[in-house]
Amino acid sequence: MEIFKTKDALKAYLKPLKASGKIIALVPTMGALHNGHISLIKLAQENADIIICSIFVNPTQFTDPKDLEKYPRPIEHDLAMLENAGCNGVFMPDVTEMYPSDKTEHWHIDLGRAEFLLEGEFRKGHYQGVTQIVKKLFDAVEPNIAMFGQKDFQQVLMIKNMLTHFNLPIKIFTCPIIREDDGLAMSSRNIHLSASDRTHALVLNKSLQFVLDNYNNYSLTELQEKAKNFYNGIKDVELDYFVIANGDTLEPATSKNEKNQVALVAAKVGTTRLIDNMIIN
Ligand code: AMP
Repeated sequence: MEIFKTKDALKAYLKPLKASGKIIALVPTMGALHNGHISLIKLAQENADIIICSIFVNPTQFTDPKDLEKYPRPIEHDLAMLENAGCNGVFMPDVTEMYPSDKTEHWHIDLGRAEFLLEGEFRKGHYQGVTQIVKKLFDAVEPNIAMFGQKDFQQVLMIKNMLTHFNLPIKIFTCPIIREDDGLAMSSRNIHLSASDRTHALVLNKSLQFVLDNYNNYSLTELQEKAKNFYNGIKDVELDYFVIANGDTLEPATSKNEKNQVALVAAKVGTTRLIDNMIIN
């Protein structure tokens, strides 16, 4: 497995591979890898010849400086996992490689109304930061395909809007959410959960599963009310939102006849903010 710190070195490696017609996949991550990330690598291997995984904790997408500071960075462990998974190359640039002048360089594109809903409401500017770095990664790799997780449902939508904005010919794959045996969605942030937080965090999965299991038994309003009630009285858990939304617009679903509905949730568990979702239809 090759390791690249600079865009130039990565481009030099990819040039002959592209010239010989190899399909290149990019799997962007912020590291602290788990089996969810590895599932993206595996799906990439089924659809491409050369897999590049990027590991970069992008400062411009963090709204809380403390969250950025405490983001886990177990690089040796990550490299071992990628090597084991058969990843071909890892791009792990320093901040100055991606933001040579100043990390606050200007970036603003129109991502549509959905930018400001859900995560966008709680993490102002988050998707500008996300699309800014993903565009830089796309420019560095120029992949044929790129893998993203359904775990960050809104992020996939924002990336697709960014691709449309720049008219980039990259195919986006949305990979299913990988969960722990008890249903908790895998996340790099789970490492911050205390033993009791870890138990309380199961409420996200349970409330989503309730909506899925009972979708035909209640109205949309009742389903959301009942799902929110799961959070009442759970110690150290604070619900940010629970919504059944239109999966294309992320606006609250107004009728069960709407296609492509998704239930999305975000909650603080102890000091850790978790998100999760389940596609309904
Ligand atoms: P991150 O390192 O958290 O930025 O995540 C990198 C990629 O892995 C994103 O596309 C995420 O949506 C995806 N991802 C994160 N957690 C999971 C999971 N539990 N299952 C599948 N994909 C995931």
